[in-house]
Amino acid sequence: MRGLTAGYGPVRALDGVDVTAERGHITAVLGANGAGKTTLLRTISGLVRPTAGSVHVDGTDLTAAAAEKIARAGVAHVPEGRGVITELTVEENLRLGALLGSARKRTERTAEDVYTMFPALAERRRRDAHTLSGGERQMLVIGRALVSGPDVLLLDEPSLGLAPRIVSQIFGMLRDLVRETELAILLVEQNARSALSIADVGVVLGLGRVVATAPAAELAADDALRHAYLGF
Ligand code: ATP
Repeated sequence: MRGLTAGYGPVRALDGVDVTAERGHITAVLGANGAGKTTLLRTISGLVRPTAGSVHVDGTDLTAAAAEKIARAGVAHVPEGRGVITELTVEENLRLGALLGSARKRTERTAEDVYTMFPALAERRRRDAHTLSGGERQMLVIGRALVSGPDVLLLDEPSLGLAPRIVSQIFGMLRDLVRETELAILLVEQNARSALSIADVGVVLGLGRVVATAPAAELAADDALRHAYLGF
């Protein structure tokens, strides 16, 4: 993303944001409520139109593209809120991901791969998704994104409201995933401490602008920045 600027009517939520999410890396996007994190993901995936700047994936300009085209180009967006389709089974939810998938399928995963990653889902594969816990729903929406074969995975607040043990499990899986693949993960989190523990790079947003971009360990060690922007 270069110079990305977007907003809602008079509200400028992003103001000239530069972020690079490299393959094989987790890039954490951090910042307080209202900093623009969700808007950044929504702008990348074509749900919010930027007023300036650009979004490129592997050199392809997707700035003005329709959301569907962006998804087919390999960008999978997992919004906040764990939107599983509760009337469908776990298996059916995963099959939907494959249906909506990227055209290229470079990092394709099958439902079986997702079950290996998240054994809790394997045990529940024939159950309706409404029977799942919050943590299992989060695993399912991440799994559904993975079976679409993305090159870029956008995750909005996956840890929200989950017990620390479940967050560790999900974050550990994300770490394994980027180690094994060429996926680029952009992880939006208010839980900055946990996010930085698994991220390679951190980007701190404040009121729609990039305040800092640095290796995750460096950000975690910066007391002034942590206190001012990261809440720990
Ligand atoms: P949160 O963690 O609370 O979601 P965030 O960092 O993701 O915060 P955004 O949700 O991107 O921040 O919000 C950035 C700014 O845009 C805020 O000032 C917010 O009030 C405003 N905003 C977000 N969505 C809308 C909308 N649909 N209409 C108008 N303003 C909005």
